[in-house]
Amino acid sequence: MTSVPDLAEPVAAWRVWNLVETPDGPLLVSPVRPVFWPPRRSMTATCHRGCAPPPSLRCRCGLYAMDELPRLYRESAGAGRVVGCTALWGRVVEHAHGVRAQFAYPLLLFLLPETRSGSRTLGSGGARRLKQHYRVPVVVAPGSSADGYFPDDRLAGAVAEEAVRGLAGRRAGDHTAHARFADAVEDLVGRSW
Ligand SMILES: [Zn+2]
Repeated sequence: MTSVPDLAEPVAAWRVWNLVETPDGPLLVSPVRPVFWPPRRSMTATCHRGCAPPPSLRCRCGLYAMDELPRLYRESAGAGRVVGCTALWGRVVEHAHGVRAQFAYPLLLFLLPETRSGSRTLGSGGARRLKQHYRVPVVVAPGSSADGYFPDDRLAGAVAEEAVRGLAGRRAGDHTAHARFADAVEDLVGRSW
């Protein structure tokens, strides 16, 4: 039987969250199950069928992410949602359009315009509070799929690649690594949505 790879180095892929305001701050919540991703701590997969640890090859458990941002954007980027690039590590299994993993933490979040104006889920200053709560860059996307905006796949791929490639450097305060990531994000947001 094929074993599930346990990756020492994270991979990066794209996913979507709902955003829920709480007295402690904004929380990223899975759109599939009412489970929130904890700020400043790894998200850990659980399995109601008892896979220990998840994900397993014969199950559908794990933390899901997709390889292609445009596909994700087209299929699930609706009002009140946050799209982002997340690091995934531990046990990692491929699925049809990406991976499912044991552990994850967001590396970059995009607030969609509907989210920005949707005071019901995110009030003024929401981007700043989300950034402070999760300690990740939060960027307001220039448009939503409803506006006819779609991210460029190649530039999104470059962002995901740099998100993990420069992760250690950014954590260590390396300005070059921060600048490379910022440039990749600017290319994506500025020219291709
Ligand atoms: Zn399972």
